[in-house]
Amino acid sequence: MKNELLVAYRYLTNNWVQIQASNMCGCCHCLQTFPPESVVAWTGLHFDELDDPEAIKRQTALCPLCGNESVLGNGAGFPVDPDFLGRMNDAWFQRTIIRKPAAKT
Ligand SMILES: [Zn+2]
Repeated sequence: MKNELLVAYRYLTNNWVQIQASNMCGCCHCLQTFPPESVVAWTGLHFDELDDPEAIKRQTALCPLCGNESVLGNGAGFPVDPDFLGRMNDAWFQRTIIRKPAAKT
């Protein structure tokens, strides 16, 4: 199992800080890339926490294109190219099992 997919998955939620530190973001659901400024919708903030900086940092980005909680920023240290996003999509959104590539024969 590729550990990086597991680690990167954690950055799809509560990722406000990572998105702010990114200069490019990608969506593991629709596989599109976009600048962090495009992320205008966030979830996870309650009305009684609007002034709480720590709560703001725990927000989760919603993809500006498909609306899913599946945004990865390159500030998290992972590539947001189509290859990596596609592998994330296969692993987490297609409900397929992560396994090593079959040995070439
Ligand atoms: Zn998307």
